Amino acid sequence: RKEGALQVQLIRFAGHRRLLLSRDISQLEKLENMRRDFVANVSHELRTPLTVVGGFLETLIDGLDDFSRADVLHYLTLASEQSTRMQCLIEELLTLSALETGAPAPLEEAVEAEVLVREVYDETRLLSAGRHTLRLDLAGDGTLLGSRKELHSAFANLASNAVRYTPTGGHIEIGWRSGPECAGGGGEFWVGDDGIGIDAADIPRLTERFYRVDRGRSRETGGTGLGLAIVKHVVTRHRAELVVDSTPGKGSRFTVRFPPARIEHAQR
Ligand code: ADP
Repeated sequence: RKEGALQVQLIRFAGHRRLLLSRDISQLEKLENMRRDFVANVSHELRTPLTVVGGFLETLIDGLDDFSRADVLHYLTLASEQSTRMQCLIEELLTLSALETGAPAPLEEAVEAEVLVREVYDETRLLSAGRHTLRLDLAGDGTLLGSRKELHSAFANLASNAVRYTPTGGHIEIGWRSGPECAGGGGEFWVGDDGIGIDAADIPRLTERFYRVDRGRSRETGGTGLGLAIVKHVVTRHRAELVVDSTPGKGSRFTVRFPPARIEHAQR
């Protein structure tokens, strides 16, 4: 059998076209599998909240006369939460699809890093609503060349994950650093937390669409499983690098390292 396999390989080397065709087919098969998985995942993610909403509505219809105003409000609030979840999922899917297939946004906007990071910090404080101690660490000026909207989305996603995966009472740090001593003359944005952390085995898969370490926790906190896939796309498009350091039970640090070509330093 081994010889047979080898022979096929030799024939393919000799017939150049055949070799290419066989590669193309396996590539196509892989893409088709990915597409099928993706459709199955999206359908599942939408079906769950829709089933819940349907269930609540049926309960209300069946028992309307027996329910108190407070009961009705309770069911409607739960249904409304599920509808927000579906909305978030669709918005993130559209963002991801625009990043993957849409006309690429120009990456030449001059984005003041400090202003953007402060904005993300303020939004994170609102999201945390006093449940965590937040710290902002800004060192060095720097203008990022890129898409403001995409960078905001990536930074905000990392920060919202820190809020969602850090129990009440924990600490979150959001920072920006740039200058000659940083990332070889580039700049870096980071979000650190002392939350639940991530097992080393899960880290390489975090940026896959719909990959979650703990499905239940992700859903409970409003996660779609698409956040880090979006971050990864934005980071790659900006020729930056995403570095994840994490220890289960201790916390995580997500760093986005920008190369010098993406940073302009002001003459002060
Ligand atoms: P989700 O919407 O589920 O948060 P993401 O793509 O943003 O999806 O993240 C993928 C998974 O990575 C999460 O489900 C979670 O298990 C893990 N994760 C992301 N950020 C953190 C963090 N700061 N601390 C612990 N786990 C995290």
